[in-house]
Amino acid sequence: ALDTSEDSADTLKPRAPVVTIMGHVDHGKTSLLDALRGTDVVKGEAGGITQHIGAYQVTLKDKSQITFLDTPGHEAFTEMRARGANVTDIVVLVAAADDNLMPQTIEAINHTKAAGVPMIVAINKVDKPEANPQRIRERLLEHEVVVEEMGGDTQNVEVSALKKTGLDELVEKIQIQAELLELAANPDRPAEGSVIEAKLDKGRGPVATVLVQRGTLKVGDVFVVGAESGKVRALVDDKGRQIKQAGPSTPVEVLGLSGVPSAGDPLQVVENEARAREVAEYRAGVIQQKRTTNAPA
Ligand code: GDP
Repeated sequence: ALDTSEDSADTLKPRAPVVTIMGHVDHGKTSLLDALRGTDVVKGEAGGITQHIGAYQVTLKDKSQITFLDTPGHEAFTEMRARGANVTDIVVLVAAADDNLMPQTIEAINHTKAAGVPMIVAINKVDKPEANPQRIRERLLEHEVVVEEMGGDTQNVEVSALKKTGLDELVEKIQIQAELLELAANPDRPAEGSVIEAKLDKGRGPVATVLVQRGTLKVGDVFVVGAESGKVRALVDDKGRQIKQAGPSTPVEVLGLSGVPSAGDPLQVVENEARAREVAEYRAGVIQQKRTTNAPA
């Protein structure tokens, strides 16, 4: 999570948790992300069309929200961390109950521990006749992940992404974990965030999905993102709707960039375009220098 020390306690307001799903290939990350997306009560409203922008937010029955990064796999997580973008508050580790703990499962455990991010284990595919959730709990012990049934404090839940069972319980555990973390940010300041993914869109030009981490990003805001700069021309949410502003923990597509930034690049709103260009040019120079220095002889 982002350091909030610059913002005094009285400016902080609760924000939604940001969740990354990790696990071995074929254990059900994509299926679980899709199933969780289906729990959104806003889904199905007029005009709501699912957009894959690298992250999405679900609104629950009690009006609280959870943001999911929907790039499954570990590369996004480690790449972002390597760039100093600690966007994930909670990791959901998916482990298929009909399989062993696999290399990528163990890798995910290690990444999560290294990041100091709390983990919730989702034991998936429990609908399968050969499923053996208890074996997963026992195997996790070998990697010092001690779930509640084994006397530890790591939450776990049995789910079937296919049959859509255990999802409410998983969401509940995410909420409990989020409460313990007391996640908060100041929404009333110039926005800062991180790029989740970016691309050059044929019709719209450079587009970046940005997770706003503090402050509120607004149409018309001038910003620096990595070595690019820009002015927000439009903001599009994960349901394809144009919105005027995006607060903390909201993933949003940003249009109006000078070029395509990289995943993990920080975005900062600055006072004016001259300042934005100055910072972007300086950063472009630094990046160029790094490339030259690192280039093989
Ligand atoms: P990923 O590689 O981790 O993203 O895994 P996928 O979500 O693509 O799932 C891999 C395969 O497992 C697909 O054929 C899914 O239909 C299947 N699958 C995922 N979740 C479940 C589940 O809960 N039960 C069963 N029986 N199959 C599942």
